[in-house]
Amino acid sequence: MTTTADQLPLLLEEIEVVRVEKLSPSFVRVEFGSPALADLGVDGPLYDQRIKLIFPNAAGRLPSFESADDSWWETWLDIPEGERGAMRTYTVRALHGSGADTRLVVDFVVHGEGDASGPGGDWGAHAAVGQRVMTMAPRRGVEFGGIEFDPGTAKRLLLVGDETAVPAVAAILECLPATARGAVFLEVPVADDVLTQRAPDGVKVHWLPRDGAPRAEAIHAAVLEHLGEEPTGPAVADDVDPDLWETPTYSSSGEDVGAAVRAVGHEFDDLYAWIAGESSMVTGLRRALVKGLGIDRHQVAFMGYWRLGVAMRS
Ligand SMILES: Cc1cc2nc3c(=O)[nH]c(=O)nc-3n(C[C@H](O)[C@H](O)[C@H](O)COP(=O)(O)OP(=O)(O)OC[C@H]3O[C@@H](n4cnc5c(N)ncnc54)[C@H](O)[C@@H]3O)c2cc1C
Repeated sequence: MTTTADQLPLLLEEIEVVRVEKLSPSFVRVEFGSPALADLGVDGPLYDQRIKLIFPNAAGRLPSFESADDSWWETWLDIPEGERGAMRTYTVRALHGSGADTRLVVDFVVHGEGDASGPGGDWGAHAAVGQRVMTMAPRRGVEFGGIEFDPGTAKRLLLVGDETAVPAVAAILECLPATARGAVFLEVPVADDVLTQRAPDGVKVHWLPRDGAPRAEAIHAAVLEHLGEEPTGPAVADDVDPDLWETPTYSSSGEDVGAAVRAVGHEFDDLYAWIAGESSMVTGLRRALVKGLGIDRHQVAFMGYWRLGVAMRS
């Protein structure tokens, strides 16, 4: 039987740039449109919903998924690397409009040149109306995954991210109830990257521009100070898993999360921490919070969104 992409349990569609806005030196906001986006959505708040984007290959061509079936992923991987285009992970910053006029908003971090550049960042830096990418995104009404923010019954929140996690934190903040309480720490490359951000009154947002200072130092110290502690270990770890992904329900290191001992009667029992960004920064905070302060690993999500010097695998 021949299938078509619109029968898959996820959206696998070509979408077109309809608007580009340079938000600051490091952020470019791109709005995508396509009648296919009418089916994009989740049954509940989007929070930090992640999606995949496939950028055109060197010849400017995108793969075709017109008759894709459940084996689309293997079929795509079978295409020689130079031809299939590069796939990277991004966050749904917002969805505007509805039906066939739905627009998917993605905020791209513009980063580096030469070794520090990559297909995703480069594409975002030069995005123009009319250009096209493929997206793999949740189809409304079908379970997709990709939302990690899950504070349960926690009374206070701690959200920490570098520039790549700013879109996710911003989207989470806009989904929170007005009664939410907590603190947010966002590290960005320069002071002009500090964006206006709506948040509940009880959630204080701290922007920490690096302005040339080493990555992670200020944010590591600020988070520990917020928790009433002095930094003891290094802000960045050097023995880092580039695929670091440790949440209350999943461990990239293979830890049996269900069997992990619960820390009860702890001063941070009411806290839920969500931390994402460059993997060595996230690992440094993981050690400080879980090993140093003894925060229950069931109350934290530590996500390596990217790794300095390492191109993300498709
Ligand atoms: C769940 C999730 C959500 C994400 N959401 C977003 C988002 O909304 N917006 C966004 O911009 N990114 C987001 N990212 C991060 C993004 O996927 C990575 O930064 C990715 O590496 C970018 O791909 P690339 O092709 O530009 O670089 P790659 O080809 O992956 O890497 C090439 C080189 O660039 C370096 N590099 C990659 N990213 C950066 C960076 N930000 N700053 C400095 N150097 C870098 C690498 O270390 C490497 O040396 C998200 C990642 C995850 C896992």
